[in-house]
Amino acid sequence: MDNRNRRKKPQGWIKIAKERIDILFGEARKSASTHPKRANRYVSIARKLGMRYKVRIPAKHRRAFCHKCGVYLLPGSNVKIRTNPRTKSVEYFCLTCNKVNRYSYKKEQLSKP
Ligand SMILES: [Zn+2]
Repeated sequence: MDNRNRRKKPQGWIKIAKERIDILFGEARKSASTHPKRANRYVSIARKLGMRYKVRIPAKHRRAFCHKCGVYLLPGSNVKIRTNPRTKSVEYFCLTCNKVNRYSYKKEQLSKP
């Protein structure tokens, strides 16, 4: 990566990056059932954008993909979802890489707008 890119990004770019991430996840959702590979590509582009501009993936999209292998998670196809009362979390079991992505109930309530 170019060293010049490490300097602080102008606010406008960050806004655009956030919008693009939102669009990419929207497209991923649309193509997930018919073109899973395309959906995975959208996810990887969105995550790269997030890293590059130091933008966090918005809460509403965080569960849409596996945080280990990066595939788009489509309920009923490549992910098993269950709740775990002991850890007070929802577990997303990725059937592609066998990773369990956990999301706490409490956090979810806090992150509501
Ligand atoms: Zn995975």
